Amino acid sequence: MDVKFLKGIGEERAKVLARELDVHSVEDLLYCFPTRYLDRSKVYLISELVDTGTQMQVRGRFLRFAEEGEGRRKRLVALFSDGTRTMEVVWFTNAGYFRRTYEASSSEYILFGRPTFYRGGWQMAHPEIEVYDPSRPPMGNVGVYPLTDTLRRKGFSSKFFRTAVERIFELDLFKNLPETLPKELLKAYGLMPLKETLRHLHLPSDPRALQKARERMKFEELYYLELNILRFARERREKAAGYRLNRVGEKFNRFFHDVLPFRLTEAQKRVVREIRDDLLSGRQMNRLLQGDVGSGKTMVAFLTLLLAVDNGCQGALMAPTEILASQHFDTLSAWGKAVGVNVRLLTGNTRKKEREEIHRMLLDGSLHILVGTHALLEEVVRFHKLGVAVIDEQHRFGVAQRARLWSKGSAEALPHVLVMTATPIPRTLAMTVYGDLEVSVIDELPPGRKPVDTRLFYEEDRNLVYRLVMNQIRAGRQAYIVYPLIKENDKLELKSLEAGVERLRGIFRDIPLCYVHGRMKPDEKDRQMQLFVSGEARILVATTVIEVGVNVPNATVMVIENAERFGLSQLHQLRGRVGRGADMSYCILMSKEKGSRETKKRLGIMTETTDGFLISEADMKLRGPGDLEGTMQSGLAFNLKIANLTQDGQILTLARKAAQDTLDAFPVIYSSDMTASSWSIPPQPGSEALSIILRELHRRFAKSVDWSRIS
Ligand code: ADP
Ligand code: MG
Repeated sequence: MDVKFLKGIGEERAKVLARELDVHSVEDLLYCFPTRYLDRSKVYLISELVDTGTQMQVRGRFLRFAEEGEGRRKRLVALFSDGTRTMEVVWFTNAGYFRRTYEASSSEYILFGRPTFYRGGWQMAHPEIEVYDPSRPPMGNVGVYPLTDTLRRKGFSSKFFRTAVERIFELDLFKNLPETLPKELLKAYGLMPLKETLRHLHLPSDPRALQKARERMKFEELYYLELNILRFARERREKAAGYRLNRVGEKFNRFFHDVLPFRLTEAQKRVVREIRDDLLSGRQMNRLLQGDVGSGKTMVAFLTLLLAVDNGCQGALMAPTEILASQHFDTLSAWGKAVGVNVRLLTGNTRKKEREEIHRMLLDGSLHILVGTHALLEEVVRFHKLGVAVIDEQHRFGVAQRARLWSKGSAEALPHVLVMTATPIPRTLAMTVYGDLEVSVIDELPPGRKPVDTRLFYEEDRNLVYRLVMNQIRAGRQAYIVYPLIKENDKLELKSLEAGVERLRGIFRDIPLCYVHGRMKPDEKDRQMQLFVSGEARILVATTVIEVGVNVPNATVMVIENAERFGLSQLHQLRGRVGRGADMSYCILMSKEKGSRETKKRLGIMTETTDGFLISEADMKLRGPGDLEGTMQSGLAFNLKIANLTQDGQILTLARKAAQDTLDAFPVIYSSDMTASSWSIPPQPGSEALSIILRELHRRFAKSVDWSRIS
């Protein structure tokens, strides 16, 4: 049933829900879980409020209302008293409505919101409000829903969701919602049935029920995640032959001895050996290569591709962005030229004529290495004999994309796959999640790298910071200035970026400056990047689009504005853009929050170490695994709503076991053609379990493969 038919929702709100949360049906709404729960059994006195970022509730009456400010800053302010003290309640929208509703009322209300200390007193903006009813028992755990700013502005609250769900249960709109796990599994693992689970997730009756409900839903999510991963893994094992690349041939040797511009680090050598062993084995390689930014993964990739070429195969290198792909192309084609290897670039922007030429050369085998974006995955891209495919920055790609690459192999063998990432993933986790990947690590940076001198500065030091930048530019170097754009399509933030650029143009008057942001057309983005890469522009002002991979060794200073808004791992990735040449480099973290001890501590870690593993560990401790997961899960492979890969290790292990058992019992799940949309395997007689599983796999994964969203 469409949510718009639920009482209290209607056409307009349904549209907002669809746009903001992708919620269309009653079922979608039921699957939109609270992200946290708050204990609402306690009512605080205003004098007891604290600003810790969490919501608290108070009870009292509204005293008087006033409108303040003008134009866009207009707001409604009410004075609210709990009998001991007063605080302010503020609304920035719908002032008329709130005033009409509460001004004339003398009822007692429960207000639930986040207290902030402002102008010498406590304040709550847009709290949830309910009439106090002494006959009702106090609420226990209540869910907090993932509200976006837009939802909030349109008047949605957690209470809205709770009410809607209550209604769904009252009307029992549920009858047709089928169980999503086979009953054998429910029984074997002691899991709560679906209907109960959904009820307790939204409206927990007590902490234990909530716990059980969360366990069931986490299990379900991880079970299907593992099933989907292992499905590909088994499929591959069935067809596991990979080309046996047993010749270290002329091109590899010539490059290694005559062209290689530096000596490989011991770690690079070890990894190349590991890869070579895989290529010799006759089984298809699926290897994850982890190495901190600047550790020299590109060279390892190129040597691997050369091994393919020397054995009469072709190679492909796929990168997540246009810019990164074209940088890889520049590097690889220069190296390739020296040993007679033909390298070409294919992206969404490649012109038709050139594309056709590439397609032709791929088929007749005259093109040796193809570099590109996800354009490589398109159906029309066919190889004569693809031996090795390298994927850079794995987290942007999921298991399905890897499978898509496999499909470019021939009947004879599948291409070997090497995925590279700079995001450190704990080994155990990598093995569980990337069930079928072996892991190699480059744990050493090339010699002579000076650690980037990282410092924390505040607003009042701004002139000093600009002087430092100026000095570097006068010395012939280049600089990055990075702004956080949390949402790449936020118009206001874009404006503030543009204002920032204008200011910088005023300060660095005669210095050519370029800038890129996420909303730019790819062409324009590339043009601007190119200005910086070529050295024509001395300053690059950017949002986080430079996070992944660009290589401009002449850039020696990076200023990161509002550094406190970035995660540590993200800062580390950004910082990796400098310190790539022989000169001393600087990373300047600008922060507005001078007072905050938390910020100081967090950013302090950046100034103390440049070790990516230490940083990601510290990040996990301080912020929870959210950041790591955000990066990992931005791949399309998983879209977890409730389970947490780093915290739910035990459930993950169980779910994985269950998934393995399922595949043992129903080989049909993986032995059918995995790249086609062959989800409609006719249910076998008597197997209700299988049809549940197939239906659920389809619901969860079939529509998530949207190639256009990968870049
Ligand atoms: P990442 O692992 O972040 O992709 P890159 O492959 O871009 O790192 O390498 C960073 C820089 O280090 C490049 O300029 C590359 O040419 C250089 N480099 C790679 N390996 C070595 C090495 N063994 N000795 C010196 N420089 C190296
Ligand atoms: Mg790289």
